[in-house]
Amino acid sequence: ARQFFVGGNFKLNPVSRAAKTSLVNGLNQASLDPNVEVVIAPPTIYLIPTAETVSNGVKVAAQNCYVKPSGAFTGEISAVQLADAGIPYVILGHSERRTIFHESSELIAEKTRVALDNGLSVIFCIGETLSEREANKTAEVCQAQLTPVIKLLKEEDWKKVVIAYEPVWAIGTGKVATSAQAQEAHADIRAFLGKEVSAAVADTTRIIYGGSVTAANSKELSTQPDVDGFLVGGASLKPEFVDIINANK
Ligand code: 13P
Repeated sequence: ARQFFVGGNFKLNPVSRAAKTSLVNGLNQASLDPNVEVVIAPPTIYLIPTAETVSNGVKVAAQNCYVKPSGAFTGEISAVQLADAGIPYVILGHSERRTIFHESSELIAEKTRVALDNGLSVIFCIGETLSEREANKTAEVCQAQLTPVIKLLKEEDWKKVVIAYEPVWAIGTGKVATSAQAQEAHADIRAFLGKEVSAAVADTTRIIYGGSVTAANSKELSTQPDVDGFLVGGASLKPEFVDIINANK
């Protein structure tokens, strides 16, 4: 059985240390399902203080990292630095990175290789736009986003990868995928892993859903056989994040 996984992607929020502290305190005091792996991804500037104060089994993720370990790369943060700071996870390939910051699937694959080589675990994000879905290209787009990383990873690397299926049209829009849409996409991704990597990797890799997840819709989504958890944006900044973590209870 795959352990249920709930990530909170804070994105570029909150904008004060006080607000960050109250989010962490809220999680520290909450009653969280101990069977769920919970990971929160605050902005870079808050990573270390968050890692130093979070409890309740909650882990911390960076929202990005660069491919080079050090050097003349102004504004970047490296996997070496994250590992040294005791940050266990990194989110890579989020649609906002792909779209706003023009990251290619090849670059994201390379980042994944480097993150894993430095002992980090990776939340690897994929997903189609609305026009791609309307053109019936959902599976094709997800496969194209996965192909470069599949080429760079060895079978054992997949133990440290969680795939986040985040349809772009559902992110921050309030338009959540239906349970059937999520299940179909996740099953297609799993089948693709089975074909391109191995049956074992397909069976054990967590595939989580992201895009307008709320306390209200998380329960039904969590009952889908191939939905192994969530990557939550907006709602991870609210008390309802706890209900999403506990959705699978
Ligand atoms: P929302 O939950 O705000 O739609 O964001 C989802 C997301 O992008 C998580 O990475």
